[in-house]
Amino acid sequence: MTDATAPQRHDWDVIIVGGGAAGLSAALILGRARRRVLVIDAGSPRNATAEHMHGVLGRDETPPGDLLAEGRAELTRYDVSVASGTVASATSFADDVPGFEVLLSSDERYTARRLLVATGLVDELPGIPGLADQWGRGVFMCPYCDGWEQRGRRVAVLGTARPDPYQAQLMRQVAGDVTFLANGATITERVRGELEARDIALEPAEVERVLADETGQLTGIRFADGTEREVDVLFVAPKSVPSDAVLRHLSARTMREQGVSWTLVDDSGQTSVRGLYAAGNVIASKSSVPWAMASGSMAGTAINADLVGEDVRRAVDASG
Ligand SMILES: Cc1cc2nc3c(=O)[nH]c(=O)nc-3n(C[C@H](O)[C@H](O)[C@H](O)COP(=O)(O)OP(=O)(O)OC[C@H]3O[C@@H](n4cnc5c(N)ncnc54)[C@H](O)[C@@H]3O)c2cc1C
Repeated sequence: MTDATAPQRHDWDVIIVGGGAAGLSAALILGRARRRVLVIDAGSPRNATAEHMHGVLGRDETPPGDLLAEGRAELTRYDVSVASGTVASATSFADDVPGFEVLLSSDERYTARRLLVATGLVDELPGIPGLADQWGRGVFMCPYCDGWEQRGRRVAVLGTARPDPYQAQLMRQVAGDVTFLANGATITERVRGELEARDIALEPAEVERVLADETGQLTGIRFADGTEREVDVLFVAPKSVPSDAVLRHLSARTMREQGVSWTLVDDSGQTSVRGLYAAGNVIASKSSVPWAMASGSMAGTAINADLVGEDVRRAVDASG
């Protein structure tokens, strides 16, 4: 930091917890604003099992790890350090201005003027045997991310706790052979009519297992009544569980939506705790790298604006 009026009592201007698409995008903006930034990343991005990303302009078909590796390489131009590690907890020591200390599971501690949490979420998959092994290969969740590749293939869509055949209708847009697995749930006449009208097969029986051949390729579904159906791919709607332990330690306010508590933020990612920001999938369950990047980028600009405000006040005080 070249500004002599800026406070130096913290290790960093900004600590970013989580180095996925959101965290690294924020780091890029902050690094370019000449902020000293530490990114701490546990190295398990949500799409780690996916071979390729789709729907990311300019990067369609890119392996997700390549994007993050190139992002990290770009950050080396700036005063940004990226460290491997897991943040175990955080404390706020705000007095006249915000300040934070993070504690890593390795027992290292770092302080910063502002804290951005971009720790993503965990997809809790239905506990059907064989399903989790296929995650990101034969089992997907996002028709926009992985739908187009399934045209011409036999697609099944699993109705979860609240059977919602909407995903089956989305997949019918790209694939001709779609089966909706009601998984033992009752289907209303209206829904049944909508499925029939779009030539989507309805399989009422409870799902017992996802089947694979000896190479690990998904081959079909076995039902509790003993019958089987051959399919090439299965779409599911996992439960999104935000990885928000750090935000909880700092008592950021949450709101409950469909049984999940999400941290409340304003348009810039500012939480209810002054100086604490959040971005990416930790604040919403959207399945999109571009959205996560935009969210991180916006938080980065907001944090810099916040720091500039503090720097101006300090400079005025120092000059008076
Ligand atoms: C199978 C699958 C396929 C997908 N395909 C696509 C696709 O084709 N196109 C698309 O646009 N989107 C896709 N997505 C969605 C995409 O992966 C996410 O939207 C995106 O990764 C969210 O970015 P993020 O930075 O918010 O979180 P993440 O990418 O999950 O990054 C969060 C990072 O924070 C780290 N972290 C968590 N807790 C801590 C901690 N306490 N301390 C330090 N670090 C921590 C994690 O290890 C991780 O590295 C897919 C998702 C899945 C599950």
